[in-house]
Amino acid sequence: MIYAANFKTNHTRATTKAYIEALKEKLLTKKPEDKVYIFPPATALDSYAGDFTIGTQNAYPTQNGAYTGEIGVEQLTEFGIKTILIGHSERREHLSESQEKVAEKFTFFKEQGFEIIYCIGEPLEIREQGIEAVMQYLLAQFDGIDITYDNLIVAYEPIWAIGTGRSATVEEISSTHRALKKAINNKPLLYGGSAKPANIKEISSIDGVDGVLVGSASLDAGNFSEMFLA
Ligand code: PEP
Repeated sequence: MIYAANFKTNHTRATTKAYIEALKEKLLTKKPEDKVYIFPPATALDSYAGDFTIGTQNAYPTQNGAYTGEIGVEQLTEFGIKTILIGHSERREHLSESQEKVAEKFTFFKEQGFEIIYCIGEPLEIREQGIEAVMQYLLAQFDGIDITYDNLIVAYEPIWAIGTGRSATVEEISSTHRALKKAINNKPLLYGGSAKPANIKEISSIDGVDGVLVGSASLDAGNFSEMFLA
């Protein structure tokens, strides 16, 4: 299983450092086959060593250059960072990242050999129309995306379940993951949306769930580690 912590705009450089120190203790007893990822905010990126991978929540598709406020490959390479989240619904929604922009970013970071956690998800009004509408919506988020890329992990994150405390049901996750797995040639597929210690056993036992992308419940190192020590 993969356990990925997305801090979003939470934690500072100092609290990320303390978080990682606390996490290291817990990682000593995790299952060796499990993988842990941490996506801190850009100001907290650094060369941390340990049994986990640090990734970036975002970057601009450039080595360097005149892109005010952005970071590119040069800034990530300083810390040995080779993992990126692309397509998160918060970036699609609040930062107006179109499918075209998302695909451009994907292609660039693929060419740089980055490991990509590519996020897709549907809004509530689509979910309410049933699985066919959901799949049509989700598959459109693969426009311009090379799903044969070796270093690809997909994260299915129903938007209505993100940060709401309301996870998708076992049946919703199970039917969506079954259909997605076929569409993405069995690439690793994470679930994201209010995953937490209280529901991790149930979610991780669903066929086709290879891990979780966790927001709110990842912010506390003790809480997050309860998930992979469960
Ligand atoms: C996320 O935004 O990736 C996420 C899964 O958030 P939360 O766990 O808070 O729903």
